[in-house]
Amino acid sequence: MNNEEKLLELHNNVHFCTKCNLWQNRIQPILGEGDINADIMFIGESPGQDEDIQGRPFVGAAGKMLDLFLEEAGINRQSVYITNLVKCRPPGNRVPTYEEKAACRKHLDAELEEVNPKKILILGLTALSAFLGPNKYHQHAVPYEYEGKTIWPLYHPAYAIYSRDRLPQMLEEYKKALKS
Ligand code: URA
Ligand code: SF4
Repeated sequence: MNNEEKLLELHNNVHFCTKCNLWQNRIQPILGEGDINADIMFIGESPGQDEDIQGRPFVGAAGKMLDLFLEEAGINRQSVYITNLVKCRPPGNRVPTYEEKAACRKHLDAELEEVNPKKILILGLTALSAFLGPNKYHQHAVPYEYEGKTIWPLYHPAYAIYSRDRLPQMLEEYKKALKS
């Protein structure tokens, strides 16, 4: 199977997925997007309302913030791969449950295998929960190695929306993670 066939298979798998209850309230499931050969992968939590409507990850307010971080680092959004831990929007944007995260993991694993990024930027604690090594704790904005990849635990972009005073620090941290 070539890259495009593989990607089509991933889209089909997620499109028809009913592995957890989140399929019942979603408008559509949302797989990642971007360069399938990217060195850099972003992993967020789960789609919000804008994403559910538009069918693309990080297109709402948090997505605009992510776009700003990329722009400040001089990195084109098309050159990275952007996805979420959970592919369907939880009702009212609640945090996905342990069962939902576990059920959806196979889709993320398929994306990880296909993209095979060198560096993963983890957006927020929910996504980080899937990448904790044996010590179950990793310092914020300090990279570590996990299964041969460099992991950067970062604040979720939405944090800079309601805590504006965090923005300068987050700009620096994203730039450091993206440029390292
Ligand atoms: N927040 C996320 O974690 N993911 C999205 O796609 C949008 C907002
Ligand atoms: Fe399937 Fe994931 Fe959607 Fe649950 S959240 S229905 S596991 S695609």
